[in-house]
Amino acid sequence: MSRANRRSVVSVTAPTCYDHSRAELAEILGDQPRYRVDQVWSGLYEQLARPSDLTALPKALRARLAIALPSALRLIDERVNDGGDTVKYLWELDGGARIETVLMLYPDRVTVCVSSQAGCAMACGFCATGQAGFTRQLTPGEIVEQVVVAARRGRELGRRVGNVVFMGMGEPLANEGPVWTAIERIHDDLGLSARHLTVSTVGIVPGIRNLAERPLPVNLAVSLHAANDSLRDELVPINRRYPLDMLMAACRDYLEAKGRRLSFEWALIHGTNDRFRDAAELAERCHSLPLSAHVNLIPLNSTPGYPTKGTSTEGVIRFRDELVRLGVNATVRRNRGTDIDAACGQLAAGQPVATPGLRRSRTEP
Ligand code: SAH
Repeated sequence: MSRANRRSVVSVTAPTCYDHSRAELAEILGDQPRYRVDQVWSGLYEQLARPSDLTALPKALRARLAIALPSALRLIDERVNDGGDTVKYLWELDGGARIETVLMLYPDRVTVCVSSQAGCAMACGFCATGQAGFTRQLTPGEIVEQVVVAARRGRELGRRVGNVVFMGMGEPLANEGPVWTAIERIHDDLGLSARHLTVSTVGIVPGIRNLAERPLPVNLAVSLHAANDSLRDELVPINRRYPLDMLMAACRDYLEAKGRRLSFEWALIHGTNDRFRDAAELAERCHSLPLSAHVNLIPLNSTPGYPTKGTSTEGVIRFRDELVRLGVNATVRRNRGTDIDAACGQLAAGQPVATPGLRRSRTEP
């Protein structure tokens, strides 16, 4: 295969604004005075400006950059929950794939939950994204721009986006290269600290091992949901390839390499993984690590393709108390965005476009 052909197979989308490295931007600006590179780069990453809004540039250059640095995300729909503290964006990408981004405003911090793939191939039955299947990988620019758009919105509200979680659509460790490039850009150029970046994985062991080798000590979240192989094989099919002992060994090595916080995500499913014996198994797994993991509990959110209910509020508290009694750090996560299908596991990018009364209905927090 010729090089050109190979490239067309590997890269199916044209680079967008936040795909370019600084060196590539310098190439695009090759006929300009050198200070323009810094000017445009800081415009994009510090001012969070669109190329067409860089008013310090000559008009003709601005027009040229608007074409050379196109936006990756075309807004299809924006939904705001009743409380106004959660915003879900539905975007269309080059080629028509759709993804979602969720912005969450808390009193003490602002977090953006980004997608790393359009769809997901991991096929977890309880997750709406898994039910829909895989469409394509995202490029670094498509990931970074999700953060930029959220940060722009935050700034309009007088808030700074300080946290990024890779808990939107997709499996970040099944799209490692682009995800890592995006993480570096978010850290180096948007200025977020590695402590505030969290990669959430279904448990791709080689990906966890590669992450341990990377220089930035980002947080790792593992979506565990079951602490024995027979249940986990059922809930999280990739467990058949990377069973629990192998996964726990990779977690242990990650902790030893990074000394960062590790969390286990546990979606409580009524009668399935919310019993005392599930808590005991989970506690045992936590205690097998050199630094105890933090368990984040959330009742399962309903999705069209999975009939079983989430655990009741009382059941969640009971499970949490049992873990605490067994010496495990556990918190119940606030469940954001259920009324706009923006909560964990509800991102499917396929809902009808408009929900009357929910669009642009936000007032400031
Ligand atoms: N693929 C990655 C990141 C995306 S999912 C991962 O698996 O970690 C983000 C989180 O939502 C994961 O912890 C996932 O297990 C959880 N989740 C998926 N479906 C859910 C549902 N219906 N209710 C609650 N949490 C869910």
